[in-house]
Order: sequence, then C-alpha cells, then structure tokens
Amino acid sequence: MLFIRLAEIFKKAVFPSKCIVCGSFFHVFSENDPVHQKNYSDKKYEIENITFERVMSPFLCSSCLVDYLPVESPFCSSCGIVFKSREGTDHICQKCIEHPKRFGKARSVFLYSKSVMEVIHSFKYKGKLQLADPLELLLFSVLIRYWGLNDFDLVVPVPLHPKRFRSRGFNQAYILVKNFKKLAELITAAPAGFDIGRDILQRTKWTQPQTGLGREERIKNIKGAFTVNKHCKVKKTRILLIDDVYTTGATADECAKALFEAGVQSVDVLTIAGAI
Ligand SMILES: [Zn+2]
Ligand SMILES: [Zn+2]
Repeated sequence: MLFIRLAEIFKKAVFPSKCIVCGSFFHVFSENDPVHQKNYSDKKYEIENITFERVMSPFLCSSCLVDYLPVESPFCSSCGIVFKSREGTDHICQKCIEHPKRFGKARSVFLYSKSVMEVIHSFKYKGKLQLADPLELLLFSVLIRYWGLNDFDLVVPVPLHPKRFRSRGFNQAYILVKNFKKLAELITAAPAGFDIGRDILQRTKWTQPQTGLGREERIKNIKGAFTVNKHCKVKKTRILLIDDVYTTGATADECAKALFEAGVQSVDVLTIAGAI
C-alpha cells in the first residue's frame, strides 16, 4: 500500500499534468479532495465545496483555474442573461420584453470565459470525458440553487441529430445529467422527484452548427429541428431542459416549442455556460 502511494507520488512528480486550457504543465495536489472521489458520504459532499476551482483542479493549472465567472444577480429573470450594471435587482431584459421566450426561466452555471469555454470544448469535441463528472457536479449544484428537486418531472437533455451523434459518439447534454438522481440522494439526502427523459426529444432536422450565426439566423437555422418522441408520455409534465451552452436561447426556445405542442405544462432551461 505504502509502495503504491510512493509510486503515485513519484509518478506525479515526474509526470506533471497538462493544463487543458493553456497546455502548461502543473502538479495536482488536490486529488484526495473529497470532491474528486466517487464514494463520498453526504457529509463530505457539501454543496459549498462544489466550486469550479475545486472540481477542475486536476485538469487546469492554477492561473486557468481562476478564470471563471459565476452567474450572480442582477440577471434577467427570464433568460438569465447577466446585466452589465452590477446594481439593482433581477428583472426582465429588453430582449425578453420584445421577444418573449416560450420557456419559463433559463439559468447557467457560468458566464462565458476562456477557461469555461475551453473545458466545454475539450469535453465536447476532444473527447475528454473525464470532464463529465466535474461538469455534472457543477450543473447539479446550480440546479438546487434555483429549483427544488420536485419542481419538475423530467430532466431532458437537448438531443443531437443521429448523424452528429454517430460522429461524436455521445450526447454531451445527456452525459451531463445521467447521474442527477444519484447526486440528488448524495447531496441532499432526498430522492429526486424527477426522471431523466433521454429519449423524449428528437432532433429530426439536420442543421448547421449555430456557432458564428446571428440571432435571426440562429432562429431560422434551428426552426423545426426538434420533435417529441410519440411513444413518450409528456402531457402536463414539467420539464427541465439541459444543454452545454446558452447563447441567444434559440435552441432552447425551439425545444420548448416542440414540447409545448406535445402538451407539457412548463419548460425551464439549465446550461453550463451563458452569454453576457
Ligand atoms: Zn492553464
Ligand atoms: Zn432576458
């Protein structure tokens, strides 16, 4: 046992980790931190321990670890966009007054920053699936900040088109919620009142990536992309939609449209990163 421990220490000293954001090498000192262990008791797994710096410390160097902006009031009570002025209370933003969203409220864990976007990019496009657990933990910690565990019936990941799913091999939004029920019991010691609705939404229309498109182009591009699986019972259910990023809300709004047409009662949205 001691030998294994020494071997680990030696390995870490000789082979430092490479920061996934800037590529520099660094030493991880926090792997015994309870937030990196799978079998924690609920006592060790306290919500205030779930911070970007702590959960990402095995993957990012110390300077990239501090590059994150948590979402804080005042923000738009509908789309969750954070106001530039840091004074006053939450209220509806001008865009949501002009073009009301179909969904109820959208919230994000962080605002766009270099580190947060690079972590998402590495997870999504470079297959760094070891980032899934820490991202899921962060997402869950924000879920219980804005909602109760019985506020919705189904957690629904935004789906990929089957063609994109085949080339990527996984749906990042589903990976971000697959342990939510387990986390609810570990963190809150209460069973979750929701189920994971993996197959509820389907992406039936092939679309170009939304990146680089303006607001109007995004709405046009994503129009009619989603349908609700006719074998799923969704009438009168309350939905929490999950995606990795929220930019203009066009994707979430289009999902909400399909869900409301299928008779759901409400749709809220939770993402890792949101635009300023
Ligand atoms: Zn770095
Ligand atoms: Zn808004």
